[in-house]
Amino acid sequence: MLIADAHCDSMLDVIRGVRHLYTASSKGHVDFPRLREAGVKIQVFALFIESIYKPNGALKRALQMISAFFDEVEAADGLVEHITTTSQLEKVLLDPKAVGAILSIEGGEALEGDIRVLDCLYRLGVRSIGLTWNQRNQIADGVGERDTKGGLTRFGKEVVKRMNELGMLIDLAHISENGFWDVINLSSKPVIVSHANCQSVFMHPRNLSNQQILALKETKGLMGITYAPEYVSEKPSLDALIKHIDHVCQLTGCADLVCLGSDFDGTNPMIPGLEEVTKVPALIKKLEKLGYKTQDIEKLMGENLIKILKATL
Ligand SMILES: [Zn+2]
Repeated sequence: MLIADAHCDSMLDVIRGVRHLYTASSKGHVDFPRLREAGVKIQVFALFIESIYKPNGALKRALQMISAFFDEVEAADGLVEHITTTSQLEKVLLDPKAVGAILSIEGGEALEGDIRVLDCLYRLGVRSIGLTWNQRNQIADGVGERDTKGGLTRFGKEVVKRMNELGMLIDLAHISENGFWDVINLSSKPVIVSHANCQSVFMHPRNLSNQQILALKETKGLMGITYAPEYVSEKPSLDALIKHIDHVCQLTGCADLVCLGSDFDGTNPMIPGLEEVTKVPALIKKLEKLGYKTQDIEKLMGENLIKILKATL
């Protein structure tokens, strides 16, 4: 079964000199050989901009990480392909051995308030941007600033329009709720919330309300269910995670809205049962046991993410 994942932070280990991704490691959650072993066909690699690089130095940090990512892909010697176009995506999907990597930036600070920088990052192969992390930035307020009720700035509106034009996937994980609605109303293309769960299953400001989930349905968007324990439950487990998947499917009456958004290497430890990427197929078995239809499991394990990428790139 085709598996695709909308969010991991594994490049953090590389840029911090902890390990490489081109070779299998006993450390961390994801590397290229383990992606292949797990049957993950498409992985979105987010480049997380740490707070010490904000606001000054965010672009330099993003460029360092992009360069490090290219080094990893080159050293992998064909094991992973950096995907920037739909035709590349289709080629990887047809090749049983290939693994595709999509480059994303987690933190719009990397634009340093300049739309030309966005164009340049696109030319470097970046195909998605998480507009904010938890703080306020030049684009919008993050979820940590939600009390001030701020949404998109004027520059943020420019960024949304330009990302639509260029064919970049807008990622609304971590944005304030007002920012979420501003983008939903403005974007001409479907958006993703790459790693978040459901507020009505487990209350957390990073999780989505039912209205937000229904708005994603309306706009053909997508949410990546995350295994990061703090968004799952007070007692995180595989069963608790599946409650979030169940909720989205029941609320929307379909399996079209959910994809995987692990947050591997973004937090540690992960929920029991999904400790690292080679455990992910266990989720398929669990869903089968619970009586999910094969067609629906295929959608949420990978097809839904592939579909939005094809619609965007
Ligand atoms: Zn995150």
